[in-house]
Amino acid sequence: MTEETKQPLIEFKDVSLDYGETKVLKKVDLEIEEGKFYTLLGPSGSGKSTILSLIAGRLQPTDGDILIEGQNVNGLPSDQRKVNTVFQNYALFPNMNVYDNVAFGPSIKGFSKKKIDDLVESMLKLVKMDDLADREISEISGGQQQRVAIARALANEPKVLLLDEPLSALDYKLRKEMQYELRELQQRLGITFIFVTHDQEEALAMSDWIFVIDDGRIQQSGSPVDIYDEPINHFVADFIGEANIVPGIMKEDNLVSFAGKDFKNVDAGMRPNERVEVVIRPEDLDIVVPSRGKLQVTIDDQSFRGDFYEITAIDDAGNEWAVQATNPAKIGQRRGLKFDPEDIHIMRLNESEEDFDARLESYEGEDQ
Ligand code: ADP
Repeated sequence: MTEETKQPLIEFKDVSLDYGETKVLKKVDLEIEEGKFYTLLGPSGSGKSTILSLIAGRLQPTDGDILIEGQNVNGLPSDQRKVNTVFQNYALFPNMNVYDNVAFGPSIKGFSKKKIDDLVESMLKLVKMDDLADREISEISGGQQQRVAIARALANEPKVLLLDEPLSALDYKLRKEMQYELRELQQRLGITFIFVTHDQEEALAMSDWIFVIDDGRIQQSGSPVDIYDEPINHFVADFIGEANIVPGIMKEDNLVSFAGKDFKNVDAGMRPNERVEVVIRPEDLDIVVPSRGKLQVTIDDQSFRGDFYEITAIDDAGNEWAVQATNPAKIGQRRGLKFDPEDIHIMRLNESEEDFDARLESYEGEDQ
């Protein structure tokens, strides 16, 4: 944590948005700092695009305040905000060539021909499209259209670039390439990117900071590692990566019971015998001979996934465990499951984000 408190670039304070009776955003608080890559991650319909539209000024909040650089911007129209959006369908002008698409914003501002030329050239170079400036939009590929859309948005010299699922129309390989390029572009330009996706792998790979959104609320925010390693609730654990989630009881500090046995773990600060959910990631489980296992299981199913086997095992209490293993197993075989105390993640059933943060702080540095 930093000592000085820097003014956030964008702030939401208790922002709600209703469409008649339908509550789409529910008291959202968020802070965006300058120069970072942020991702809004959540399932379809969770409210991600609504948040972007509120930042851009295409929508106004029903309740609460939105601040940009400390100024309340409620009611301020889009064209007066230093924010630009790249949309999923790119929304390029089909009757203009690549150059004219990118020059559109600067020419409205009345810049000189020389300034427009220089700006367009540098933006097209940035996205590696300078050789194709004369092409019509219909004569370039989807990936190239995507690059032009980014150049067009950047030519307006925004402080914040909003990207609304910009990669979802691309095939897998191109999508991976564009993920890398976007991340690199953001680092080179140093401006803030706010990227919307429903793809958790994409979010983990690209972001400095992720807001996980469901049902019009921010469920958790943090670095990719924080969110993966310490999911705050069932939704986040399930949505981000694969997770085994079983019911448990925190008997006392550093002792949790699940599947009918007690296990040492690294969590503390809960009520004695508090009911919790226990999360263990499939890649943190090993299949071993039964005598070396902390839990005894029967192998129920397996499938080959390219670089690992996904094995399903059932413990004697009836819990199902997904395991990622390098070696295959035999269905019906008795085996053991091995894991370390730090692989066990505990989620309280109804914990607020403040209580969760306080709990994290209470055992930060303990084992060092
Ligand atoms: P996401 O980007 O996460 O897919 P959106 O922000 O687009 O989600 O939408 C959030 C919710 O708001 C959805 O349930 C959607 O149906 C609802 N919604 C969006 N626009 C309108 C509208 N004009 N009228 C009523 N409901 C809407």
